[in-house]
Amino acid sequence: MNDARAIDRLDTGPRFTEHDAIRLNRMFRGSETEEWLGAVLEGNLAGDVAMVSSFGAESAVLLHLVSRIDASVPVLFLETGKHFAETLAYRDLLAERFGLNLVNLYPDIEELQARDESGLRWSYDPDGCCELRKVRPLEKALARYDASFTGRKAFQSSTRANLPRFELDTSDAQGRLKINPLIDWDAERITAYFEQHDLPRHPLVERGYASIGCSPCTRAVAPGEDPRAGRWAGWDKVECGIHKPGEEPFL
Ligand code: SF4
Repeated sequence: MNDARAIDRLDTGPRFTEHDAIRLNRMFRGSETEEWLGAVLEGNLAGDVAMVSSFGAESAVLLHLVSRIDASVPVLFLETGKHFAETLAYRDLLAERFGLNLVNLYPDIEELQARDESGLRWSYDPDGCCELRKVRPLEKALARYDASFTGRKAFQSSTRANLPRFELDTSDAQGRLKINPLIDWDAERITAYFEQHDLPRHPLVERGYASIGCSPCTRAVAPGEDPRAGRWAGWDKVECGIHKPGEEPFL
């Protein structure tokens, strides 16, 4: 871990560089998730870190893993105003059970009134709706952090298949890190972790929702379908703009 702590952090210029991300990936190659996650948090290798969570179908795993190491890590939740009631109840349940440091992020009210007064922008311009309700509030909140944890997993879709554990956040000119602790977990391992730790499931999972976002843009999927096929079904859209496909290895 001494080598890890030796990664230079400059007061001026980027917080992290592409080279830092590569070094971190090499440093923890072959390490178990709990081991390297503990090293990153306890060794403060990534500076001020926040976790971004949708409180979706599999979110409990990462929330549990991180909160067991450091429950003070801020958990950023995008309160888009379009979530299923079940998601909000699940968020509150997990926050209570894991003792999370929950931070709800809201869209700018004036922007909403100017660009989505009817609340129906999702139906004719989902990119614009995500921009208002997700991308901008998150960008604003993340500006104060050096790194963020995401719950992305390679098996979720082809656009996530080749992501590394550590990557530069391309939305940030200051070199923020994106950390993907579950990127190499498969569906069986996720299921086993839920069972091993007796974690509660999102109530919509048993109704066929494999990936859960805002209610107007999420449908249940058929057995064997890509878990994210139920997101923005019918639109040529696979991510909300927080994560951009096709930018591997740094997404
Ligand atoms: S997922 Fe749908 S409702 Fe939610 S912010 Fe994006 S377009 Fe809007």
